[in-house]
Amino acid sequence: MLVDSHAHIDMRRYDKDRDQVLERARGAGVAAVVSVGCDLASSRAAIGLAERYTEVFAALGFHPHNAAKMSDGDLERLAELAQHSKVVAIGETGLDFYRNLSPREEQIEAFKRQLELAQRLKLPVIIHCRNAHEQVLSILEEWAGCSEPASQPLGVLHCFSGDIGLAQKYIEMGFLLSIAGPITYSSSHALEIALNMPLERLLIETDCPFLTPHPYRGKRNEPSYLSFVVEKIGEIRGMPIESVAEHTTENAIQLFRLPI
Ligand SMILES: [Zn+2]
Repeated sequence: MLVDSHAHIDMRRYDKDRDQVLERARGAGVAAVVSVGCDLASSRAAIGLAERYTEVFAALGFHPHNAAKMSDGDLERLAELAQHSKVVAIGETGLDFYRNLSPREEQIEAFKRQLELAQRLKLPVIIHCRNAHEQVLSILEEWAGCSEPASQPLGVLHCFSGDIGLAQKYIEMGFLLSIAGPITYSSSHALEIALNMPLERLLIETDCPFLTPHPYRGKRNEPSYLSFVVEKIGEIRGMPIESVAEHTTENAIQLFRLPI
């Protein structure tokens, strides 16, 4: 049994065959898929999918690319939508200083406001970080410092791309790290993370339709390809795929409080 902790199955690229995509996921042992919002429309769409498919759960948020478009009203809409029983997280939010599709100041503002929202709603956060490791770390340190001491994990750094030192800091702060398809590319940083970090702190994800694992790299990704990520982690750690699956699923159930 596997949990795809980060997927964008609301995207148009699945409109023609979404039923089959989710059927293949079930066939591959994927027991839950978190459909992650990037703006108000995709957050709403995630809830729509969660209502339609038992195994789908929703995360609500504004991706850093869309930070400049987030209004006060949008944040309140997210808070209202979060009352839905299948909403399991706030995100994805964070900083993307690689593509800079929203001005940096606005990304920081939107990130901080979504962290406050998550705290208010007592939901975990799904963090996107690209080329902004220092800034994301300092914002999360400040935020985690204001949180009540956590018995629950605070959130997850999705498709974690930092080094071991940074990984350790996040783990100490109470975050999980998520491993995606790039671990199947030979040059990936994630290899080191998946080998050295405790299995109790790892999640797995596809981030589909992006980041397609080898051997389908270049094609559209989908939740059933999560098996390639699990296989790779098992291979580099020299442990059975079943125990990688069991641990990462348990971690996802705990973080998102999944009723599965
Ligand atoms: Zn994503």
